Amino acid sequence: MKKIDFALKTPREGLIDITVHVQEAVRDSGVTDGIAVVYCPHTTAGITINENADPNVTRDLLLGLDAAFPDRTEFRHAEGNSAAHLKASVVGSSVTGIVDGGRLVLGTWQGIYFCEFDGPRSRRFYVKVIRDNER
Ligand code: ZN
Repeated sequence: MKKIDFALKTPREGLIDITVHVQEAVRDSGVTDGIAVVYCPHTTAGITINENADPNVTRDLLLGLDAAFPDRTEFRHAEGNSAAHLKASVVGSSVTGIVDGGRLVLGTWQGIYFCEFDGPRSRRFYVKVIRDNER
């Protein structure tokens, strides 16, 4: 089965709602029952599922991550973006969801987010949908 990849331009930092693209990829796969993996192939960006109703939630997530992982003078990584690497590791590089009836199952308030911690950049993410063979 093919993977489906998407390109996006990101801001310096932010959570970008990619739910529509993921649902599109699930629909285009033709899989009605199975699982979908959304994967980010970058070391200073990640993928997460969180609330998509109140935009202040993603803003607060970024504030919280900044508080938990501030830039530190002790960091040695020459690129100078260790805080972004830390945030990416904590958020994770993928999410897996259940595909049912040709759609990724999400709660009423859930959306899938591409998390940029060291932009602006050209980024990619992948969606792989796997059919459930059980009868
Ligand atoms: Zn780096």
